[in-house]
Amino acid sequence: MEEVNGIHELRARIRDAEAAVNPLTEWTEILNDHLNFGNNGKLSDQIGVFNFNSATDCLNLGTDRCQVSEGDCYAKNNERFPNALSYRRRQEIVWDHLDPATFADAFDRVARRKRTDVSILRLSQSGDFRNRHDVLKAEAIANILAPQYDVYTYTASSWLPFDETDTLTVNASNPNIDSADRRFVVVDDVESIPEDGIRCPEDLSDGEVECGQCRLCIDKDAGNVYIQNLYADD
Ligand code: SF4
Repeated sequence: MEEVNGIHELRARIRDAEAAVNPLTEWTEILNDHLNFGNNGKLSDQIGVFNFNSATDCLNLGTDRCQVSEGDCYAKNNERFPNALSYRRRQEIVWDHLDPATFADAFDRVARRKRTDVSILRLSQSGDFRNRHDVLKAEAIANILAPQYDVYTYTASSWLPFDETDTLTVNASNPNIDSADRRFVVVDDVESIPEDGIRCPEDLSDGEVECGQCRLCIDKDAGNVYIQNLYADD
């Protein structure tokens, strides 16, 4: 991994948290600095967002598993700004140090501080699941946070056992994941959306509908969702 801005400070904070009399208090402050609520007008403020890793480091980037090319990866393109890349790499370090119970309790504490009514956690806006451990940890967090918070995610990591999830809502951006709750399909041309397919309302309304107001990817019982490739007209 290349240079990560703020890594020395983060490592010192993690050392302090692990040696603290009350580690949860310290971890809450660390997680508070590595969580977003809402995002660029696409996600409502009721959604907390945490990434396992950056798109630059994503195991699916530029592979057949991902439904867009590396050049069309919106998350990767955001990381041309060095602070965005370092932030997501620090999130990966935080993720790897936190057990599910501490993550869930710290998330709950951070969420309760917000003026908005936070009720949803989105895991992974950039990057993707790397291993079975990530899958089981995300499911464990979803189980601890339920029913107060809904936890959902997107993935193209088709070699991992998503059939071991139940509470976590899994949106598959790869057709080879049988056990996901639905497909989340990027299309270059909206004409190719099947008649019974649902076009993402945020995409359809040009951002007037936010995730959170729309719950198609969050609830378990909605059908497959289609969205137009952001770069399709470029
Ligand atoms: S379908 Fe709904 S929840 Fe999913 S990305 Fe679009 S607006 Fe967000």
